[in-house]
Amino acid sequence: LGASRTFWELVSRRADLTPDRPVLLQDDRTLSFGELRERAERVAAGLYDTGVRPGTVVAWQLPTRIETVLLSLALARLGAVQSPVIPFYRDREVGFALRESRAEYVAVPGEWRGFDHTEMVRRLGAKGIFEAYDRLADGDPSVLPAPPSDGTSVRWIYWTSGTTSDPKGVLHTDRSLIAGGSCLAHALHLTASDVGSIAFPYAHIGGPDYLVMLLLYGFPAVLFEHFALPAALEGYRRHGVTVAGGSTAFYSMFLAEQRKQPGTPVVPALRLLAGGGAPKPPELYHSVVREMGVQLTHGYGMTEVPMITMGAPDDSAENLATTEGRPPEGMEIRIVDRAGAAVPYGVDGEVRLRGEAVCQGYLDPGQTAEAFDEDGFLRTGDLGHLTASGHLVLTGRLKDVIIRKGENISAREIEDLLHRHPAVGDVAVIGLPDAERGERVCAVVEQPPGAERPTLATLTSYLRAEGLSVHKLPEQLEVVDALPRNETLRKVLKYKLRERFSGTTPAP
Ligand code: ATP
Ligand code: MG
Repeated sequence: LGASRTFWELVSRRADLTPDRPVLLQDDRTLSFGELRERAERVAAGLYDTGVRPGTVVAWQLPTRIETVLLSLALARLGAVQSPVIPFYRDREVGFALRESRAEYVAVPGEWRGFDHTEMVRRLGAKGIFEAYDRLADGDPSVLPAPPSDGTSVRWIYWTSGTTSDPKGVLHTDRSLIAGGSCLAHALHLTASDVGSIAFPYAHIGGPDYLVMLLLYGFPAVLFEHFALPAALEGYRRHGVTVAGGSTAFYSMFLAEQRKQPGTPVVPALRLLAGGGAPKPPELYHSVVREMGVQLTHGYGMTEVPMITMGAPDDSAENLATTEGRPPEGMEIRIVDRAGAAVPYGVDGEVRLRGEAVCQGYLDPGQTAEAFDEDGFLRTGDLGHLTASGHLVLTGRLKDVIIRKGENISAREIEDLLHRHPAVGDVAVIGLPDAERGERVCAVVEQPPGAERPTLATLTSYLRAEGLSVHKLPEQLEVVDALPRNETLRKVLKYKLRERFSGTTPAP
């Protein structure tokens, strides 16, 4: 199945193999692989009647429901170009996505969670608007042209999180998404008897990545439209979820539930938490494994390359706690210094990537030209090193290096240390413009419930005792109720913190 050239070919082959096995579970609904193909094809026919053709750009902003997966597959069946937009996004991001992608049609949920999406996209000047769920198009598949046969045309435009700047429109092909999903499937050693779960918005790049995994192995996943613990636990238990996926914030939520009932598993069938997308403190790994009695594997991915490295469930605890795992076959990783020269094992540099799962570039050709180096490797903007055993350790982001008096300081190094302090919940370390030093180091801290309010003096003396050099010590501390995060993976938005604290002066 992994040799399928297109998404639709993969769907068809799986539906031929195991038509009656379930693939999507939501509330009390179940869809089988056979029904997935049949219904997606009817939706495709309905869209075709509406005017959608191979190559037509269709944006969709839909919550995580079975119908959303059907619509996305229908577009893949037609060979249209789809641009998924996270359902929580509002005018600014949605307007940006519609303009940049030049979408001819946009599918919205109508009113969803008290917000009128139809009204918003009309306000933004969208023309071909359809409310996907009322009119989940239905038609006679005999009108359809043949499915696309090449997997190498751009058919997907995904949006980066906009952590470092405006979101970028990332171009993917069926082939690159299938390659990413296959790698994930191999890395996790899943089997046909697993039950997965999709707790993140299906409009995220992880959506099709995950679906590829279900199609390859033939197991089902539970979809959550409103994901929140503890409410979602009922769904996990009812469907006997064995593998739960999400980002770092997700592991912490599970652990918090577990701590309410020590010794009794929160989801009895659960054996693996697998996720990625944000730094994971090693202590979190150890707590999850010890207190929940499940394995945790964490990986590195980005919108441009949904699966770069992943921890293998049977790797050593040391590697699983402190690395992002190894790259799958076919993924080339190069670590380079500022001049672009490869550096030896153990030395930090920029991570660069080449392989089938890498995107074709960005909507903006200028950004594409800048993104790839002369050997065709994608510049990730992430910093890290490879160990002698071939594991990747991420240490920060190029754009997240603070330059204080000409010295480069990695925000991540300080964050990792502060995470272990009891008066610190989550933390983001940022550089703020400073007349004297160029930039100064500022720690923005969330205080855990019931903990004592941290002070700059207590944190800096702790950091010194931990061996952090004096020139890296934070000179400013801000304690906040909640760090600003994006809605997709709950990633901290540092640019918002920089905006907020730029005009401030450090405490004397
Ligand atoms: P933008 O590119 O718009 O600034 P973004 O890079 O945050 O936003 P995404 O594509 O969602 O958008 O995120 C990918 C980034 O997330 C990676 O480049 C990396 O910096 C970070 N990341 C992903 N996985 C991990 C991980 N396991 N550990 C640390 N950081 C990670
Ligand atoms: Mg990025």
